[in-house]
Amino acid sequence: MKLQALHPGEWLGMLGGGQLGRMAVHAAQALGYRVAVIDPDKHSPAGAAADEHLQAGYDDAHALSQLASRCAAASTEFENVPASSLERLAQDIDVAPAGAAVAVCQDRAAEKAQFAKAGVPCAPHAVLRTAADCAAVDAALLPGILKTARMGYDGKGQRRVADAAELTSAFAELGNVPCVLEALLPLAAELSVIVARGRDGQIVSLPVQRNWHVGGILATTAVPASGIAPALQVQAQQQAQAIAAAFEYVGVLCIEFFVLQDGRLLANEMAPRPHNSGHYSIDACSHSQFELQVRAMAQLPLPQPRLHSPAFMLNLLGDLWFDAQGQRREPDWSAVLALPGAHLHLYGKTDPRPGRKMGHLTVTGASADEARAQALQAAQVLG
Ligand code: ADP
Ligand code: MG
Repeated sequence: MKLQALHPGEWLGMLGGGQLGRMAVHAAQALGYRVAVIDPDKHSPAGAAADEHLQAGYDDAHALSQLASRCAAASTEFENVPASSLERLAQDIDVAPAGAAVAVCQDRAAEKAQFAKAGVPCAPHAVLRTAADCAAVDAALLPGILKTARMGYDGKGQRRVADAAELTSAFAELGNVPCVLEALLPLAAELSVIVARGRDGQIVSLPVQRNWHVGGILATTAVPASGIAPALQVQAQQQAQAIAAAFEYVGVLCIEFFVLQDGRLLANEMAPRPHNSGHYSIDACSHSQFELQVRAMAQLPLPQPRLHSPAFMLNLLGDLWFDAQGQRREPDWSAVLALPGAHLHLYGKTDPRPGRKMGHLTVTGASADEARAQALQAAQVLG
C-alpha cells in the first residue's frame, strides 16, 4: 500500500490534553506539523503546548467537526475517549488508532479475547456480569484480583479477594458493573513493550521495558530490562507485534506483560497510545514513542528505534511537592539537574496532588549500572 504522507505544516488533531498529548504535540511540532487538541480543561498540559486548544468535551459535536475540518489526521492520547468520537472523525479524516481498536482496549474482557485471538497467553480469568456469576466462579481463580472491565487505571477499580464471600462483596463495592476476575499470580517481574504499526502493516517496537509499580502506579522503568533473559525479551516483542497485527492496529500500542516466578510470560493489558513506561524513549532512543505516534498518524515511514543510552525513568508524582508535615514545597530541581544524565520533564500542571503525575525524570548513563546509580541519587535528592 502506498502511504499518503502528510506534509509538514499540515494540522494533526489530538483527542485529550494530558501529558501524553503534550509530548505528542512537541514531537509533531518538531516535525513541522501544527496540532489542535480537544480537552475540556482550560489548563490542560497538551492544550497549553498545542497550536490550537479546542476547549470542549471529547464528544462535543461542534469541536469534533472543527477538528475534522482543520486537521488531516487525528489520534488520541486518552484511553477512555468515546470510540464514537474517533468514528465521527474517521468519516472525514484519517484516524489512528481506529475507534474499534480503542474500544477493545477499553474493555478488559475484549482485551483478553484479543490476546487469545493473537495466540498470546494471559492470566486465567472469568468475566463476571452479575452477582450470580460471582457465586458460580471457579475456585481455582481464588485468591484473585477483581477488576472492573472498563475505566480502571493506576490500580483503581480493583480489589484483591481471598474467597467467594470477599468476591461477592467486592463486586457490589465496585458498583455491580461487569468485571474480570483474575487469579492472583506469583509475579517475578513486570514488562511492557511499545509497538508502532503503520497503515501499510509495517511494524516496529521499542526495546523491552522493565517496570516497578508502587501503590498501583508506575514508579520506575529500566531499559534495558535488567534481569530479564534476552530470549524472554524477544518473546515479549514478538507477542506484542502479534497482538497489534491480529487486529490490524494502526498507531502506537503498549502491551503490559507479567513474568511469573516459573518464567512464563503472560499478557496483562494494553493501551492504545503511548505509555508512561515509554517516556524514557525521548532521551534514550533514536526515535521516541511520540515521534512514532506522529509518524503513524502522518503516514510517514516508521524507523526501528535504537536505544543509544541505558536509562532509568522515575515518575514524579505530586507527593514530591509536600514535606513530611504535608506543607507545600518545591523539589530541588537544581540539585537533580546537577546529576549527569538527568533529563527533567515537567508537564506544566500547577496543582500538585498526591498520586498525580506531574512529570518524570529520565536518567541516562554510559552503562545500565551508571544510569541506575544516578537515578537512585536523584530519588534521594527528591526525597
Ligand atoms: P491498571 O489498569 O491499574 O494498570 P493492571 O491490570 O495493570 O491495571 O494492574 C495493576 C497492577 O496490579 C499490575 O501492574 C500488577 O502489579 C498487579 N496485578 C494486576 N493483575 C494481577 C494478577 N492477576 N496477579 C498479580 N498481580 C496483579
Ligand atoms: Mg497496568
